[in-house]
Amino acid sequence: MFIADYHTHSSFSSDSKTPLEENIKKAVELGLSEIAVTDHIDFDYPDPDYPFLFDYTPYRNEIERLKEKYKGKITIRTGVEIGVQPHVLNEIEEFLKNDFDFVIASSHVVNKCDLCTNDLFEGKTKFMAYLAYFADVLNNVKTCDFFNVYGHIDFINRYGNYEDKKMIYSDYKFITDEILKTLIEKGKGIEINTSGFRYGLGHTHPQFELVKRYKELGGEIITVGSDAHLPKDICADFDKAYDMLREAGFEYLTLFCGKRAKFVKI
Ligand SMILES: [Zn+2]
Ligand SMILES: [Zn+2]
Repeated sequence: MFIADYHTHSSFSSDSKTPLEENIKKAVELGLSEIAVTDHIDFDYPDPDYPFLFDYTPYRNEIERLKEKYKGKITIRTGVEIGVQPHVLNEIEEFLKNDFDFVIASSHVVNKCDLCTNDLFEGKTKFMAYLAYFADVLNNVKTCDFFNVYGHIDFINRYGNYEDKKMIYSDYKFITDEILKTLIEKGKGIEINTSGFRYGLGHTHPQFELVKRYKELGGEIITVGSDAHLPKDICADFDKAYDMLREAGFEYLTLFCGKRAKFVKI
């Protein structure tokens, strides 16, 4: 039995048409004790077709309506996935004056390049492009405090036109170690994002070696999320994620209420 899906998107996100209630229904059907709604906010997203912004009040109202409707069946947490770019930190801070239970910080845009396009990768070797991504993540984790977990921390290997997108963990250890150590020092977590399986990569984000290393360095805060944009993907591949976590030495998952962590046995 799965516990909670802590990364889900609905039609409040520019890239999903799923009514929020459909995700909740699916989560109830799966017998989850909790679901975190984490729609996208990405200030200054480069693609005008995907503004990745929503108004807090209707979002909160819909979550409150569903909390009431599904009371006793599931706990619904108000979350958000915030796209971090160094020049939008003031906007983020302002937006997060609203009440949230849980905040994921993610890098979807690096050096103003949308990772879905070839802009960041153009003229760069795979190593240089992946390094540019991790340097951006490192800068964000050093400068930001507003989040609970960093999202899909190694998902750069999903993008770019390289024939072999595999990320060899040891090639980047010098920088990923610094990222993980900074997160741990700040009491921040990582999420295990199962969408890597749906992208055909055969692993979670982050991949096993990084999760294991986070544990070795003293990290304790782990959420598990599907990154579902469709109800059918709620909790997708969670069996593999839970097995991987146990193998990495984790016995507990983290849930958040009012941004305070609560640990539950896997
Ligand atoms: Zn994301
Ligand atoms: Zn997401």
